[in-house]
Amino acid sequence: MTAFIKDTLIGFWSLLAGLGVTIRYFVKPIVTVQYPREKLTMSPRYRGHTEFIIDPETGSHLCNACENCARTCPSNVISVTGVKVAGTKKKRAVTYVLDYSLCSLCGLCVEVCPTKALKFSDEYRLAGFSRQDMIIDVIARLQAQQRALGLPEEVPPVPEAEEAKTEETKGGEGES
Ligand code: SF4
Ligand code: SF4
Repeated sequence: MTAFIKDTLIGFWSLLAGLGVTIRYFVKPIVTVQYPREKLTMSPRYRGHTEFIIDPETGSHLCNACENCARTCPSNVISVTGVKVAGTKKKRAVTYVLDYSLCSLCGLCVEVCPTKALKFSDEYRLAGFSRQDMIIDVIARLQAQQRALGLPEEVPPVPEAEEAKTEETKGGEGES
């Protein structure tokens, strides 16, 4: 009889202890993120694929298409082209494409960039059905960010040669 009472009391106590844990967690703030309605804020040290930094002064990127990043990349996944901008002596990137499926996130491209044009994005929601889906058009991404921030969208620079051609055409039209 004594053993029965003892077992009952222990069982009752463990029931109360279990309910105590349930009640404690019931009133605690919810930690579950309601993905995809909610998005996590990533740690500043998180490394997503690389992207252009938006220059606060110009609202655009700082890439001069020097190709340092492409040459340094150990995975050889960066392809960048640029043109000499009309009216200046500077070159500017026209295309910047990255094959993220082969990127090791080593960070060398970010480090070697002389104009500090690159950073790691906080993108963690990439998914695709093929490796092609992991090809990142960095200029298109910049344009999307500019739209989201209400900034003027990136327009490809007019190359020096084309401007010269346009001038020639205008001159030709004027002569005839
Ligand atoms: S992080 Fe490394 S592997 Fe990835 S693109 Fe940059 S240099 Fe290449
Ligand atoms: S991102 Fe930097 S290193 Fe790469 S091409 Fe542009 S300026 Fe050069």
